[in-house]
Amino acid sequence: MTETLTIALSKGRILEESLPLLAHAGIAPLDHPDTSRKLVLDTSDAAVKLVILRATDVPTYVEYGAADVGVAGKDVLLEHGGEGLYEPLDLGIARCRMMVAGFPGANAGRGKVRVATKFVNIARRYFAEQGRQVETIKLYGSMELAPMAGLSDLIVDLVDTGNTLRANGLEPLEHVAEISARLIVNKAAMKMKHRRIKAFTQCLAGAVGKRAA
Ligand code: AMP
Repeated sequence: MTETLTIALSKGRILEESLPLLAHAGIAPLDHPDTSRKLVLDTSDAAVKLVILRATDVPTYVEYGAADVGVAGKDVLLEHGGEGLYEPLDLGIARCRMMVAGFPGANAGRGKVRVATKFVNIARRYFAEQGRQVETIKLYGSMELAPMAGLSDLIVDLVDTGNTLRANGLEPLEHVAEISARLIVNKAAMKMKHRRIKAFTQCLAGAVGKRAA
């Protein structure tokens, strides 16, 4: 019997950059995820379905087995806590850096500083490891506004070109982590569907290798 595979993905950069890798594994969605309103997409492989989720929900679906595998940014995994998941492959896509940013010299201050971010767990861990006392403020977007509006001294955010920071008078101050998208696998599925998931992982690894070459 063919083993089914449910793959969790999020729209945007991860989806765009995952589709060529999935094509290498013989998997192409039958409806285009950007134009279709369907959240479950059939693919060219009758045994494979794609589920399209919010990026932050991908680890949750995979952890609970609602999807067998998924593609999630390392930022999302670090924030979620990756203990309930396997992370067998760095896909090398959706690359960027997690940075502390602020007005020039803003990180030199003594005493308690305020840090606004979507990534409160990552920020708390980063500053705690350095023995620095911070107050974290959870935001859901437009982090770059926080220092200008007087909400925080620093932000922790993803930086690619740095254009968004520059446009708001901010600069990257400290490097927190290198970020890229990872293949994640449900722990039970890894046992129950081992051959299917191993073959899938190897196909993706081949595609990643070709991309890098
Ligand atoms: P940039 O202006 O090129 O430095 O891009 C920064 C903006 O894009 C920030 O708002 C980030 O949250 C977002 N961003 C950059 N790279 C990524 C990525 N790999 N995944 C998700 N968001 C990203």
